[in-house]
Parts: sequence; C-alpha cells; structure tokens
Amino acid sequence: TKALEIKQLRKVYDNGFEALKGIDLDVEQGDFFALLGPNGAGKSTTLGIVSSLVNKGSGTVRVCGHDLDTERERVKRSLGVVPQEFNFNTFEKVEDILIQQAGYYGLRPRLARQRAEKYLKQLDLWDKRDVQSRMLSGGMKRRLMIARALVHEPRMLILDEPTAGVDIEIRRSMWRFLTQLNAEGTTIILTTHYLEEAESLCRNIAIINHGEIIAQAPTKELLKGK
Ligand code: ADP
Ligand code: ADP
Repeated sequence: TKALEIKQLRKVYDNGFEALKGIDLDVEQGDFFALLGPNGAGKSTTLGIVSSLVNKGSGTVRVCGHDLDTERERVKRSLGVVPQEFNFNTFEKVEDILIQQAGYYGLRPRLARQRAEKYLKQLDLWDKRDVQSRMLSGGMKRRLMIARALVHEPRMLILDEPTAGVDIEIRRSMWRFLTQLNAEGTTIILTTHYLEEAESLCRNIAIINHGEIIAQAPTKELLKGK
C-alpha cells in the first residue's frame, strides 16, 4: 500500500476560491517527498486536508491504505503533523505538552512519559522540559512541534514549510534529524518553496502551481535540465 494516495482532489473555499483543481498525488512508503511550489499554490491546503485540519472537497485521499472519509481515526493515527504556525498552550510546560499529546492518542501514562523523554532527548529539548513553551526560542519551538508530532510514532510525518524563517544552522540540524528519521523508516512529506531544500533532502518531488500538479518525478530527473 502507498503511504499517500490522492485522486482528483478538489477544494473550493467558502469564498468560492478554487484552491485545488482535481489533483493526483502518490507517495510510496519510506519516501522522502517534497510538495514544492510558490506561495498560494495549494500546498498547505493539500496537506491540511490530509491532516484533517481543512475540510475536504471532492475526490479521495488514502493514507497507509485508510480512507480519509470512512477511516479518519486510523488516518490520524498513521500521521504526525507539524503545522506552520506554533499552536501550543504557551503556559504549558514542554514535557507536559508531549505527555498530553501522547494521551490524546491513547498511550498509557507510563509510556507517554517514556515517549516524551525519548523525543525531547532526540530533539535536544530535554534540558527545557520544565520550561513553559512561550519561553522557548523560535528554533526550539519548531523542534517541539516535531517532537509532539512523533510521540505516537506515526508511519508518516507531514511538515508544512518546516524551515521557513529559521536560520541556516537550525535548518541544517532539522535536515539532519529528518534524514535520520527517514532512514529509520518513517515516510516524510514536506511542503517548501525552497528548491534547494527539496533538492538536498527529498527523493521525489511534486510541483504544484495554481492548484494543479504540474510535475511529479524523482528529484534527479526533475532537476536534470536545470
Ligand atoms: P500554499 O501553502 O501553497 O502557500 P495555500 O494552500 O495556503 O497555498 O493556499 C492556496 C490558495 O488558497 C491561496 O490563494 C490562498 O489565498 C487560498 N486560501 C487558503 N486558505 C483559504 C481560506 N480559508 N479561504 C479562502 N481562500 C483560502
Ligand atoms: P476536535 O476533536 O476538536 O475535532 P481533533 O480531534 O481534530 O479536534 O484534534 C484535537 C487536537 O489534536 C488538535 O489540537 C489537533 O491539532 C491535534 N491533532 C489532530 N490530529 C493530529 C495528528 N494527526 N497529529 C498531530 N496532532 C493532531
């Protein structure tokens, strides 16, 4: 089964704007995949629908074989989502945020604490576990969002513009982390408008513009004629 299978997905927002014009997209298990395109192309809309943050229009979406319309809970469990905006309760402590998220996925308290520790350590936030999230730097907030998306150990991680606005050092360390995570078997899909990011990280790329997929191919092929 594919990690993600989108067929003829169309999205019209309430104001009548057609953000997706019937797109098809396939992502294999284990892939490191970029949805690349300029601002306003439809990247966030696409991944928002997959992550249940945006209502779907017509068409079908399957995640790890589960249909978004009929098996939404299974779809959610297969996914970890890193949104573009920092969206925590900012007065909550870092460790509690992760434990709470694990609880949301039904993990027992002991396992929830173990997972929180594991991912805080992996993302270099263990020292900050007792700090309120509003006190963290921008780069730390990004890493916390990644940790939160991973506590239930999903098969696929979705990141919306993960490195937008972060400095080059943090960007590089996030790239290293994601590469390692992918090497251990997690499928990764990210949106980006940086060609360089897609090129250096991802095996496969789809290019979206004005709500249409205009190319989908392995990175090497796509950039050959560049
Ligand atoms: P991208 O992530 O590629 O920058 P988006 O998916 O965020 O693009 O947006 C695609 C288009 O849909 C843009 O033109 C945007 O203005 C529009 N759009 C996004 N959200 C809404 C909304 N809630 N209502 C109306 N239009 C929207
Ligand atoms: P509601 O029950 O209010 O409709 P949801 O069940 O969709 O809300 O989501 C509850 C919380 O869990 C929200 O904060 C949402 O952002 C988060 N969430 C939902 N799905 C996921 C996911 N796949 N990965 C990470 N967080 C998620």
